[in-house]
Amino acid sequence: MKNYIAADVGGTQLRAAYYTAENLKSVKILRTSTYDSKGIETPLDRLEKLVASVWPDDEEVIAISIAIPGPINPYTGVVLRAPNIPEWVNLPLKEHFQKRFATPVVVGNDANLAALGEWMFGAGKGHHHLIYLTISTGIGGGIITNDQLLLGVNGLAAELGHITVITDGPICSCGQRGHLEAIAAGPAIARWVEEEISQGAPSSLMPPITAARIAEAGREGDALCQAALARAGYFLGQSLADFLHIFNPSIIVIGGGVSRSGPILFDPMRQSMREHVMAPGYLDNLELKVAAFGDEAGLIGALALGRITYG
Ligand SMILES: [Zn+2]
Repeated sequence: MKNYIAADVGGTQLRAAYYTAENLKSVKILRTSTYDSKGIETPLDRLEKLVASVWPDDEEVIAISIAIPGPINPYTGVVLRAPNIPEWVNLPLKEHFQKRFATPVVVGNDANLAALGEWMFGAGKGHHHLIYLTISTGIGGGIITNDQLLLGVNGLAAELGHITVITDGPICSCGQRGHLEAIAAGPAIARWVEEEISQGAPSSLMPPITAARIAEAGREGDALCQAALARAGYFLGQSLADFLHIFNPSIIVIGGGVSRSGPILFDPMRQSMREHVMAPGYLDNLELKVAAFGDEAGLIGALALGRITYG
């Protein structure tokens, strides 16, 4: 039997799960905080312990697959940098886990792997050309083209949130200006609403302002919140048109917390995408869907990578 361990590393939470055969439902799943409240264990110690805790007693594990929130070289398994885990710089994660567990290890960027999971098991099943965009605290992406995950020479491809949409716009988490993430990710939408309110715009919304509360207030008729999501939708749609021109996919899958906003975001996004495509052919048979996997996207993506690599 082919059994897999999948792990998903987050800035606040670590998860690991044990999967058997063709099942998408884990046999055992555990989660823990990334940081030890007493400051004794490192995130790496905690991840190692978690993987050991889901390990089956009497069954063989064919591979360990790990999703990382940040740039990683999937060929060497070195984490270049994990923005929410500052001590992980040039960390040879694959080598470390392979030695510790004497089992093959595969690693990938979490958004890339979420794309792979949606393509293999979720909203994009049956498609050969897929674009995945996750909109939450940041904007990540993944591209499947000809049934292959696009990685690039160093495995750094498909950073779809880090394209410039406003020259000299707000500073992005990556340090550059005017990236899509700095305009349409959850915190960026919230920041725009806060700025508008501080300049006197009327709104029913009281602090703390989050993208989820903006969507809720917008649905209830708050004009400022509707404008905020229409603005984010406009820039997202414009970027999607750019991606259509480059990759010509048959499906766009949108994941992450902000994707749960509903038509208040999706309608302006779709409209803007239509307005910005250079030819209607890009829209022929194009599907636009919300991701099938929410919270568990990283784990399912890691599982997909394990199965593809050691199937
Ligand atoms: Zn950026």
